[in-house]
Amino acid sequence: MKSDIPIVVAGGRPFLARLEPYLQPWGAVSCESPTLDSLLKMLKPARASIVLLSPPLVEQDYVEPLKNQSHLTVVYCIAVNTTPLPRYNLAAILTEVGLLTQGADAYLELLPCPQTAALIAAEHQLFQAYLEVAKRYLAQHCHLMTANDFLSSIALADPLTTLSNRRALEWELTRQIRRAQTQGTPLSLLVLDVDFFKAVNDNHGHQAGDRILQLLAQRLRNYLRRQDAVFRYGGEEFVVLLKNTDNEAAGAIAQRLRALIGDHPFAVDRDLHLTITLSIGVATFHMGDDREGRSLFQRADQGLFEAKTNGRNQVMNADQRTG
Ligand code: GH3
Ligand code: MG
Ligand code: MG
Repeated sequence: MKSDIPIVVAGGRPFLARLEPYLQPWGAVSCESPTLDSLLKMLKPARASIVLLSPPLVEQDYVEPLKNQSHLTVVYCIAVNTTPLPRYNLAAILTEVGLLTQGADAYLELLPCPQTAALIAAEHQLFQAYLEVAKRYLAQHCHLMTANDFLSSIALADPLTTLSNRRALEWELTRQIRRAQTQGTPLSLLVLDVDFFKAVNDNHGHQAGDRILQLLAQRLRNYLRRQDAVFRYGGEEFVVLLKNTDNEAAGAIAQRLRALIGDHPFAVDRDLHLTITLSIGVATFHMGDDREGRSLFQRADQGLFEAKTNGRNQVMNADQRTG
């Protein structure tokens, strides 16, 4: 009967002792009067968990932090009352209202001291029923999370090159800027544009153009470090985000990328080998830049524009005004 979803029971010693016989067959883990932090740590490794809490822990606001610990995990919380007042008593109803309002997903009442075997057996069944409901809820939730992950990955990927797309860049750029600010590390950005790409389509057809974009994406990805991220910004334009990279290093990487593409032809098919070149703009995040990366991007784009007007197949470092 051991549950495939971890079950954690938290409360005082008498509470744990009262629940122990019912939960032991499920492989539940007991946690005596835990702090919120220690409980959070216990739940963290699992994607989904069922938590049974004593009413005092619910009243101490344990539920919301447990549920909101991370968007990657989901917690189903049952408030269990082992010292209930008689049913249909105003205070009993208000206790239930209070615990559910404080975030519990379900409320389970046990007799303080069941006297007969039939009552104990019934409580076993009650526990089982509550845990099955919890498991059903969590299975549905995990299914939705998986579908959601899949849809997000489609929404953030460019289908032709399988690189991350512009939407992913917007999200990642803000994240990396925040990281660079808090950790005090440099962050640089390159904007790359294929030179005279329209001529590739015009002379060799759109399919050859598509193939070049795929091969170009592959070559960029293979060359860059794991920590660097490359995006298809749109059309024949790409963006590279360089973590922990100052302006000088970014300029050097841009030069290497320019050579990596321009110095070696692409084998579109057996009979067609094409050489294409890149113009690249470079910029590095600085204090005056906005947190969304607009000004950073604009400078790199201005660098790209200058690289184009200066003759293409070159790097223009907007923060140094040199290649
Ligand atoms: P420049 O050096 O000024 O950048 O010249 P260019 O020809 O590269 O620039 P332009 O903006 O005039 O043309 C870009 C071309 O890229 C036109 C467009 O058809 C092509 N393109 C954009 N996206 C794709 C794509 O997904 N597949 C193919 N095959 N071509 C694409
Ligand atoms: Mg172009
Ligand atoms: Mg372009």
